[in-house]
Amino acid sequence: MFEELQPISFPGLDMKRPIIIAGPCSAETEEQVMSTAKDLSSHGIHIFRAGIWKPRTKPGGFEGIGVEGLAWLQRVKKEIGMYVCIEVATKAHVEAALEAGIDMLWIGARTSANPFAMQEIADALEGHDIPVLVKNPVNPDLELWIGALQRIYNAGIHKLGAIHRGFSTYGKHIYRNLPQWHIPIELRRRIPNMQLICDPSHIGGKRELVAPLSQQAMDMGFDGLIIESHCDPDSAWSDKSQQVTPDVLNYIVNMLVIRETTQTTENLTLLRQQLDQIDNELLELLNKRMRVSREIGQYKKEHSMPVVQTNRYDDVLRTRGKIGEEMGMSGDFIRTIMQTIHEESVRQQIEVLANRMHP
Ligand code: PEP
Ligand code: MN
Repeated sequence: MFEELQPISFPGLDMKRPIIIAGPCSAETEEQVMSTAKDLSSHGIHIFRAGIWKPRTKPGGFEGIGVEGLAWLQRVKKEIGMYVCIEVATKAHVEAALEAGIDMLWIGARTSANPFAMQEIADALEGHDIPVLVKNPVNPDLELWIGALQRIYNAGIHKLGAIHRGFSTYGKHIYRNLPQWHIPIELRRRIPNMQLICDPSHIGGKRELVAPLSQQAMDMGFDGLIIESHCDPDSAWSDKSQQVTPDVLNYIVNMLVIRETTQTTENLTLLRQQLDQIDNELLELLNKRMRVSREIGQYKKEHSMPVVQTNRYDDVLRTRGKIGEEMGMSGDFIRTIMQTIHEESVRQQIEVLANRMHP
């Protein structure tokens, strides 16, 4: 599988790392498209993105300008000389894009999560030679992402890449979509010749996160970045808080430090990066657990309850040990970890009871 993958390329373009794709979340007006493209092009950006059809989570948002926008992208191509790419989600989108001479397509996260939609798009692409980028599905499911890529590859598209745009999650976080870097890193380990593009705009959801996320992606050996850029971000019709002006984008790109990625034959670098990420996630989870535990401490304090309740503790050790065993780990190992966590939990609850710590 994927033996015949080729790097994304366009005639006359030097595709050295990082490949930069930039443009507004949505094509809104002809003026906005032309003005943004002109500014990006003046900063040496050659690949323009813009959404024509916008999959919105809820009805009522701006759902895209539709086929009318294709003519604006043709102007960007003809008059400014950029390569243009849009998102497609249906057979009709693919046909309209091919007909309009769009240079590259991407498939959005809500679409890549749906095998029926992916197959429909793959069938529509059969026999055409156009580079395609597939965003990760909204949910953190690597197999679903690989399956979506396979469908496009099986349709004969060999200039195929993956876009990491983070994963949807419930609740408020620093990021709009959690990066879960170990997932794209695992994709790279499984399919080393697949180009990986990072979308810091949708991961971060905020302008100020675009630069650090872009640098992080570069440090992890991503091949390129797709960044939302708008001539007037504050008045954008979609995703305004994450779009940057072409000037800011130029600054961000120029500040990037590009280190060569050296890989050992066993791919240890990638595996170690995965471990680092997973350890960070473990720490965050532990921290979250301690927070909840301190709240319980507060409750016990208000209700004059003792900190340690043996029944509950026995239960925790037993159930976790059993689940651990089912997962193929040693029950003793899990019980030892749970005992250590419990010790720290009790220590923090005592601190809460003694008013030395707040929940
Ligand atoms: C987009 O690129 O504007 C978009 C809709 O992204 P995603 O599919 O990652 O949500
Ligand atoms: Mn967007």
